[in-house]
Amino acid sequence: MKKLYALLITLGLFLPLTGSDTLRVGGLFYLDGEYVTVSIVDGMISHIDRFPQPEMGIVGEQAELPEIWIAPGLFDMQINGFGGVDFSAQDIDSLAIKKATRLLWKAGVTSFLPTVITADRENLANSFKLLKTACSDPEINASIPGFHLEGPYISPEKGFRGAHLEKYIRLPDWVEFQGLQETSGKRILMVTVAPEMEGAIPFIRSCAATGVLVSLGHHNGSSDQIRAAADAGATLSTHLGNGCANMINRHNNPIWPQLAEDRLSVTLIADGFHLNREELICFYRMKGVERTILVSDALDLAGLPPGLYTRQERQVLLTPNVVKFPAEDVLAGAASPVSSCVMNMMKFTGCSLSEAIKMASSNPARALGLEDRGSIAPGKRADLILFSLENGKMVIHQTIVAGKVVYE
Ligand SMILES: [Zn+2]
Repeated sequence: MKKLYALLITLGLFLPLTGSDTLRVGGLFYLDGEYVTVSIVDGMISHIDRFPQPEMGIVGEQAELPEIWIAPGLFDMQINGFGGVDFSAQDIDSLAIKKATRLLWKAGVTSFLPTVITADRENLANSFKLLKTACSDPEINASIPGFHLEGPYISPEKGFRGAHLEKYIRLPDWVEFQGLQETSGKRILMVTVAPEMEGAIPFIRSCAATGVLVSLGHHNGSSDQIRAAADAGATLSTHLGNGCANMINRHNNPIWPQLAEDRLSVTLIADGFHLNREELICFYRMKGVERTILVSDALDLAGLPPGLYTRQERQVLLTPNVVKFPAEDVLAGAASPVSSCVMNMMKFTGCSLSEAIKMASSNPARALGLEDRGSIAPGKRADLILFSLENGKMVIHQTIVAGKVVYE
């Protein structure tokens, strides 16, 4: 019986419990590779049972079947859009957001922060109003705990501002931010800001005092300014190594002080294009598994078939991994789901599967103070993915959000 049971969980099969709101799922536990079943009652993890590995005979008979892993769902705290849906679109509706959410479930993402970038006040307010309205749908709400405002209080300097439009970049404005926060229904959980902007330090202090996660990004801050930002309550650096000019001073640049500042965790775009192998290794070794977070920073083109598209009157080329301006052959944005970043992190840094998953699930949840998700333990919300590793890819078989199977 135990053999049969082990076989069933090897296959990642669902085992019904009694009652309609209960579910049991099995697979190899992401932390240690042992066989487990996770029992879910009313959307929450009730308990975890461990089993010894099945005998070789059983494994041998099913050798052609991939091993199914079970892990907490991925949490992407920086994503601009997905599957052709742009979260900053001024006409976005619940239908479009649900479409993107479903595609993200398919990609193993159970929580994400739609990221709204630099725009004028009216457009930002409209974006947050539309996103908030969409969150009145319980299915969307389950996967969108809040939003990330990246900008507009960032560096206007070329290179540091990245793809943000200079004309909308402005000084930190606490009154404006409070207005946006009100419009969002107090759902702006994270803001990316440049510490060297006039008024940034009191702005950071005010944000931190209201529980908003402050991340430093698209900036050319000095070591003093970065330290002052951390003193004021900044705890994160947004996509370290990107949102930075190509030519910087080898001694005095914004990257070293952020690496050296222990109070700052970092988010990294580990898509294999935004950072090279050595950058990823160095950043990861400096910050370690606990202070590294993987983000996709994906554009709306992510998840669409490769090809030429038009965005903001410019032609862009979507390759299977990244978006480029074809004429100049330079990066125009990211297009890999965060699951690809998990795999790249393992490939480039040699970290384990459990470490890579932590960086894309537990760490973002913890950074945002969302204690209900990001790990598999009794009492946590049942946000789970069942997946196999095939040819260097994470193949998602099932995704569960708050105990409900949303993709299989
Ligand atoms: Zn950015």
